[in-house]
Amino acid sequence: MTDKLHAKHGPSSLKNKEVCPHWQNRPGSSAAADEGTKMHEAAETGHLDGLNPEQIAQVRECMIAVDQLQEEIPGCIRYTELQVDVCGLTFGTADVVLIGAYTATVIDYKMGRVPVDDAEVNLQGWAYALGAFDLFGVDEVTVVFLQPRCDLRTEHTFTRAADYDRMRDRVAAVIEKAEDPKSPYCPHPENCQYCGAKACCPALASKALAIVEKLPDALELPAVFNPQEITQPAQMALALKLAPVLIDWAEAVKAHALEMVRGGEEIPGYELKHRSGRRVIKELSSVWEIVHAEFAVPLEEFLPACSISVSALEKAVKDNQPRGKGAAAIRSLNQQLTAEGLCITDPDITYLAKERN
Ligand code: SF4
Repeated sequence: MTDKLHAKHGPSSLKNKEVCPHWQNRPGSSAAADEGTKMHEAAETGHLDGLNPEQIAQVRECMIAVDQLQEEIPGCIRYTELQVDVCGLTFGTADVVLIGAYTATVIDYKMGRVPVDDAEVNLQGWAYALGAFDLFGVDEVTVVFLQPRCDLRTEHTFTRAADYDRMRDRVAAVIEKAEDPKSPYCPHPENCQYCGAKACCPALASKALAIVEKLPDALELPAVFNPQEITQPAQMALALKLAPVLIDWAEAVKAHALEMVRGGEEIPGYELKHRSGRRVIKELSSVWEIVHAEFAVPLEEFLPACSISVSALEKAVKDNQPRGKGAAAIRSLNQQLTAEGLCITDPDITYLAKERN
């Protein structure tokens, strides 16, 4: 899982840093990360409250698999959420570690939808395995990744005699390069996509420059491309003019690529996927009649499923006032809703807009 105490070079980031030593985690959280954390906690504690049926099914599958692995190990001792030191190089938290007489089994839950690397080569698994070798003095460590959403279980057994040194050397090499500011930047589409250093990455900036130079309308370019190194307001203005051009270019690439694939061309590494369109409820009153009459949903459980558009509500209020009284009614409505705490306003958003000449 993600490494709880956040080592600088946590096991989950080693794969990315092996591709590019300057790769960084993205700051903050995301819906997918929050979901993963919730499901991990459920798998650890067995408390499934707050999960939807699909999430419960995935978590149950993990729990059953761990119980089966435990049953196969005589006299097994089970640790959950175990922090392991990785040869003094870094540290991480293994989801489950099962200890037998001479063996350890390290289990990592993966709740995502992108299949992880095989356990035999998975650098995150290698880091946990090294930690288990050191912490428990065992001769063999089996690494198991459980990824129920991909119907995937990958495992591999490493031995101290044959594997420990090469595993430690690979992890050490990745961290050494990541610590060296002179290491090369190595752009790779999939790796850069999840990198938190994109905005100030000189390699990406020079790729952007190469694109811009090929655009038909020559733009005046800023002297430097790393946003954090642009200190002159005039230079920042040039960068701001360039930004939408690059966005337009990216959108044009995506649109044209879609046309190519629809036209029968194959683009290596990409495939057409379909997503269901957004479902929209119309006629709330008719929906209420159905869910109440046929499915016994009470009003207090129906209402939280409904949302109200503030502007539509204001229009309804205005349309029902005598001529000339609409604006005052809307003001009064907003005062009352705000005073009662029934309508809250998100924080203001500050953004830069181009001045009109
Ligand atoms: S964005 Fe830059 S630093 Fe990040 S992975 Fe790509 S090349 Fe490396």
